[in-house]
Amino acid sequence: MTTPSGDAVPYPQLIVDLGAIRRNYARLQTMTSGTEVAAVVKADAYGLGAAAVAPVLLHAGARHFFVANAHEGAVVRSAVGNDAEIFVLHGYWPADARVIARSSLSPVINTAEQLGNWLAGPAGPYALHFDTGMNRLGVPMSELRTVADIAARRAPELIMSHFACADEPGHALNATQIERFSAVRDAFPGVRTSLANSAGCLLDRAAHGDLVRPGIALYGGAPRATEVSPFESAATIETPILQIRAARSGGTAGYGATWSADSDRTLAIVALGYADGMFRAAQQGGYGRIGDVKVPIAGRVSMDLITLDVTAAGDAAKAGETVRFLGPDLDAFAAASGTLAYEVLTRLGPRLERVYT
Ligand SMILES: *Cc1c(COP(=O)(O)O)cnc(C)c1O
Repeated sequence: MTTPSGDAVPYPQLIVDLGAIRRNYARLQTMTSGTEVAAVVKADAYGLGAAAVAPVLLHAGARHFFVANAHEGAVVRSAVGNDAEIFVLHGYWPADARVIARSSLSPVINTAEQLGNWLAGPAGPYALHFDTGMNRLGVPMSELRTVADIAARRAPELIMSHFACADEPGHALNATQIERFSAVRDAFPGVRTSLANSAGCLLDRAAHGDLVRPGIALYGGAPRATEVSPFESAATIETPILQIRAARSGGTAGYGATWSADSDRTLAIVALGYADGMFRAAQQGGYGRIGDVKVPIAGRVSMDLITLDVTAAGDAAKAGETVRFLGPDLDAFAAASGTLAYEVLTRLGPRLERVYT
């Protein structure tokens, strides 16, 4: 990272690989052959920036987008124009009526009451979400008939449900949810169906429906935490080394002196910390890279700084040199942090300058 004049830039950047997102979208189309691939861009496209990411997915072929709430929907509408439908997962709330109208959003209706309010009010296109076993959002199966009767006034565009255990292909709940959903399908003949998130896309066809709803796969995280991701990571942090120091054998590093040198080591201090979304827990097993060389975190992650043991990088480790995090190590970094790529991506802080390539 340098200025045009060659000066090193002392700020961390988040490099978002839009080409990788496009390829991941195409990959999902191939994997779910013939099924329409929608794009889940909630939480600012999993932290990567919905305003930049959504148009790329539109050009890749996505015509249906999912966001969590109406304010996210308004951002996506500005980004994609009028050629796509934007579904709001958190339901219909009359307080959102204006933003929904202004941005032509379609609520994902989760309760009979919401359906009544929607049909008595805006009454535009909507999706109906049924809870088939996750006990999270969605109409309970016991209200299928009641809700189908209310929906007779205006059919939904889409009926959907969400898997609790799609990342565990052998889990019995997957088959149970598919079977319960077939009763929903029977109650809404001719209405398009949607079941699968990213992990569901890796299950067989019965788990897909007419439209799949991948999120994490688009950004390259592993849908199954126990397996290597078949998708390309779209997020790499680049940050410069601010200072190099020599740690004598027995010396310690960082708050609490939790790390100590078992031999003479070279340490690098980089401009990145938990204020940028790096987890404090990442000190056990988290690493960055200088070129291809892995450089492990040494001691506690602090707010704005991380100390790395860069001994293995030799002369390449010098002030101003770029250290990369995430990228192909996204899932490994998440595992070292005791979490998933989902949480790593959505916590990436606002201080990281988003750079789109
Ligand atoms: C977040 C979400 C998705 C996308 O999930 P991924 O695991 O990221 O693919 C799909 N459907 C619903 C209802 C969601 O809340």
